[in-house]
Amino acid sequence: MENNHYEVLVVGAGISGAALAYELARYTDIKSIAILEKYEKVAPLNTQGKANSQTIHFGDIETNYTVSKASITKKTAKMVEKYCLQHKLENEIIFSHQKMALGVGDREVEFLLERYEEFKELFPNLQVWDKEHLKTVEPKLVFDADGNERPETIVGIGSTGEWTTVDYGKMTENLIENAKKEPDTEVDLFLNTQVKDIEKRDEGGYEIKTNNGTYSADSVVVNAGAHSLFLAKRMGYGMDYATLPMAGSFYMTNQTMLNGKVYMVQNPKLPFAALHGDPDILENGLTRFGPTALVMPYLERFKPGTYLDFWKTLNFDANIVTIFWDLLKDYDIRRYIFRNFLFEVPYFNKKLFVKDARKIVPSLSVDDIHYAKGFGGVRPQVLDKKERKLMLGEASINTGEGIMFNMTPSPGATSCLGNAKRDVINLCAYLGKTFDKEKFEHELLEENLTQSQIDQKLQAKYVSKIREEIHAHEEKYFQNVNEGHELPSYWEKPYSPWRNKRDHWSM
Ligand SMILES: Cc1cc2nc3c(=O)[nH]c(=O)nc-3n(C[C@H](O)[C@H](O)[C@H](O)COP(=O)(O)OP(=O)(O)OC[C@H]3O[C@@H](n4cnc5c(N)ncnc54)[C@H](O)[C@@H]3O)c2cc1C
Repeated sequence: MENNHYEVLVVGAGISGAALAYELARYTDIKSIAILEKYEKVAPLNTQGKANSQTIHFGDIETNYTVSKASITKKTAKMVEKYCLQHKLENEIIFSHQKMALGVGDREVEFLLERYEEFKELFPNLQVWDKEHLKTVEPKLVFDADGNERPETIVGIGSTGEWTTVDYGKMTENLIENAKKEPDTEVDLFLNTQVKDIEKRDEGGYEIKTNNGTYSADSVVVNAGAHSLFLAKRMGYGMDYATLPMAGSFYMTNQTMLNGKVYMVQNPKLPFAALHGDPDILENGLTRFGPTALVMPYLERFKPGTYLDFWKTLNFDANIVTIFWDLLKDYDIRRYIFRNFLFEVPYFNKKLFVKDARKIVPSLSVDDIHYAKGFGGVRPQVLDKKERKLMLGEASINTGEGIMFNMTPSPGATSCLGNAKRDVINLCAYLGKTFDKEKFEHELLEENLTQSQIDQKLQAKYVSKIREEIHAHEEKYFQNVNEGHELPSYWEKPYSPWRNKRDHWSM
């Protein structure tokens, strides 16, 4: 592009940056887009297949999702599925496995049966699998090392024949390839190009300084994962926020133990996903257990040089101490944090991890698993210093001045196309461009639930203590950051049923 000037410049070629470039190229009349990526290839960090659990999170087997949240998450998850099917990526990028949430013991079984009643309309393919059925579909869940049946009651709430698993790294490559194919838009990808500084220009737009020269753009979206807040702070935005990098590691088995994805019931007090077992599509279906959760003082996994960036983004002060104190004074959270720390300590790690994973596979022994070296990534959890709390889910800072910053912990890969849609609408409003909503909805949206269907679900009467705890957990952690001027045209459509802040986080 002449003069290195673009209408939109995207920082970061993970799945968030790639999804945005694709949607801008395919569904808008924006003519020029640049993607700047610090490393030598696309999806080098959290998006690559070894870094994450490869799951499309619909909300059916993730027991920390309420039905209202799942109805939103399902919509964005379906976009990933529809994209992959539209481009014929079956068994190359998107895969199908059986999947379930596993309840162990009376309390969890009862909870899952209640949850099933509440969720079955939203997920009509969900089934209830008792121990006898589990013996045939997922026998390792039932028998111990001596071939005896486990003593506890168990139930699986799951489905078969659904698209469950994605190689998000390959999907990122595919999104960029397809963006480049759009005939009326120029899409340029610059690798080995690290953004050092972004400055507002007097004449409008932004100047982007990199190790590889200077670019300019009318608008900028920073999809730099854990570095998004780092770059925001350099410009004076997001000063009330901090990033807490939660590293996640995995343990790999020496054999295929599970035929599909098995998620455990989440303790609603714990801010991170419960341990699960998944067939790894990059390792011939060997079972991968994890992820663990451990705070680490760097912003990127397996890469040097981000220690100082961590401290600059954390901006340690009394508010951070309060947030940590609030978390640590709860026994369950304290125990969870300590245990996850031990999962990284040689000798103790395997023994302790196996103890936890035996809740899924009772016959699992220390010899069956090994620490998956080189697997895992970092979830940039956002701390709200003003509110003095840790937030879960994605956060987005929209300055209203043509520059946005996105922080994307899990399930950021699942919601890449949904998040991109939010940014596309905001960018079009800012730049005076047109978003072809009809084409987008035709290609990527599953038919909408009507408001009355959603209301019915929200009024469902299945209330138990554990459900109240989940609601309390959601209230506490899920919130969207939207600084500066909100663009009203976005919040009014197309999701007007959900106007309160809590529900915006995943769109
Ligand atoms: C252990 C674990 C398990 C997970 N499991 C799942 C799952 O099963 N399903 C799911 O949906 N999500 C999952 N996630 C979350 C998911 O992986 C992330 O949300 C998603 O990959 C984020 O994509 P991204 O493009 O926003 O960020 P990233 O993939 O982190 O990409 C950011 C990009 O920005 C680049 N960058 C950074 N700074 C600069 C700079 N200054 N200049 C230029 N480029 C820069 C980086 O090099 C990188 O390529 C998991 C995450 C972890 C850690």
